[in-house]
Amino acid sequence: TQFNELGLAAPLLRALDDAGYTTPTPIQAQAIPTVLSGRDLLGIAQTGTGKTAAFALPILHRLNEKGGRPPRGGCRALVLSPTRELSSQIADSFKAYGAHLGLSVAVIFGGVPHGPQRRALSGGVDIIVATPGRLQDHLDAGTARLDRVEVLVLDEADQMLDKGFLPAIRRLVKALPTARQTLFFSATMPQEIGRLAAELLSNPARVEV
Ligand code: AMP
Repeated sequence: TQFNELGLAAPLLRALDDAGYTTPTPIQAQAIPTVLSGRDLLGIAQTGTGKTAAFALPILHRLNEKGGRPPRGGCRALVLSPTRELSSQIADSFKAYGAHLGLSVAVIFGGVPHGPQRRALSGGVDIIVATPGRLQDHLDAGTARLDRVEVLVLDEADQMLDKGFLPAIRRLVKALPTARQTLFFSATMPQEIGRLAAELLSNPARVEV
């Protein structure tokens, strides 16, 4: 399989060409058509398998195809990740793959001032990549809204469990629309993570690499 056989829009294929990628990794070949179809996904994959592109490419495709503006104070796609480093890397991937589209990306994590994040949120952002704790702060302060999210990604769910983020995740999810697409990635499936996946996903396709 080549990237141009997966149904991705031309500007995304151009960005992949810029990056020098021609062949999808196994998780990309399996996940991209599924996510494009709108279905929920449970991905059991380690880092290094290409899982970031496996969700970023089809999310960019769908947001671009559907069109529309992000809501003020909110976003259309929300990615939750366990650390600021991973959040920054994921946001950089969205920016690189989306370089030929006009979508906006913001990253939200703790340990830095709230002001710039508040300003970034206020106008609305297509894609937000966030650690759960700081996003919860913005939600509680009324500087973020999540009621217009079209797609939710949980990345490295098992790491989020280890960091004690499950209560924050459950609270954030209560602020999301129930009619949404959800993509859930974890390297391992301890019982707590299996339970969270069952709560968040609806008839998911399962991809294991
Ligand atoms: P990830 O598992 O998302 O952290 O990706 C691991 C690394 O593989 C990253 O540095 C990506 O830039 C790179 N990568 C992702 N997809 C491909 C691909 N299809 N071909 C070559 N490299 C890739």
